[in-house]
This record gives sequence, C-alpha cells and structure tokens, in this order.
Amino acid sequence: MSDCLFCKIIDGSIPSTKIYEDDHVYAFTDISPVAKGHTLLIPKQHCQDLFEMPEEVARNLYAAAPKIANAIKAAFQPIGLNTINNNGAAAGQTVFHYHLHFIPRYDEKEGLGLIWPTQTYSSEQLVEVAESIKAHL
Ligand code: 5GP
Ligand code: ZN
Repeated sequence: MSDCLFCKIIDGSIPSTKIYEDDHVYAFTDISPVAKGHTLLIPKQHCQDLFEMPEEVARNLYAAAPKIANAIKAAFQPIGLNTINNNGAAAGQTVFHYHLHFIPRYDEKEGLGLIWPTQTYSSEQLVEVAESIKAHL
C-alpha cells in the first residue's frame, strides 16, 4: 500500500531500526517505546488488522513471535512480557497495518495502563456469549 507507514518501513523508504526479517515478517523497535525493548512485529503483506488477516499470514507472523520474545528476554532479562495487538481506532490502533507489540515488563508495580477492570458474568451468560461467537465460526 503506497500510503501505508509500515509498508514504507518494510520497503525501506522510511527508516526503521530493524531487529529481524524473513520472507514474511519484519520486526523493528517502536519509535516511542513504553519499555526498553518494545518491539513491533508486522507481516510483509499489508493487512489493516486482525479482522482481514489471511490465516497463512497469521501463521507466518506468529511463527516468528517466540523468536522475538526470547531475543528480548535474552537481551534485557525482563520479568514478563506482554504481546498486544490493537484492532480499530476504538481499540487504540493508530497505524492501520497490523502489528503485534512486544512489551517487556521489568517491575511488577509499574503501571503501563494494561490492567483493565473486569466484569462479573454468570456461567449462563458466559455460555450465551460463547454460543454467539461459535455461531459465526
Ligand atoms: P498502535 O497504537 O497502532 O497499536 O501502535 C502504533 C505504534 O507504532 C505506536 O506504538 C507508535 O509509537 C509506533 N510508531 C508510529 N510511527 C512509527 C514510526 O514511524 N516508526 C516506528 N518505529 N514506530 C512507529
Ligand atoms: Zn501496510
């Protein structure tokens, strides 16, 4: 996509700090890291978000994920790591080329705004929710 920031990063027309590349994926440092080692992993094939990602693209993307996570772990010894993917502006997506964030965690007490309040559902409500989703698989 000619007007996509991350497609331009993949083709080199916009500079990035590359960490890893294979035939299918590209990983680079986030320009505004929320923690040391914050990395983005993206498919080379442009997909806006998870909703429009072909299964094969997903397979190839996630195949590279353990490698990236373990390299971050070996480099900086975080005590944990979040992988996060925002889909849609309402979910916090600002760049509309799918990307998986790798955010290492160094301090159990550090607040990255990643803890969300939970709701209480009865088991019947959980079944109803599951059935609604299953109907579309
Ligand atoms: P989102 O909010 O869409 O999930 O995340 C987009 C991420 O892309 C943000 O964390 C932001 O810092 C990062 N980002 C935006 N523009 C650039 C850029 O030009 N280069 C790099 N390396 N990261 C970027
Ligand atoms: Zn793109």
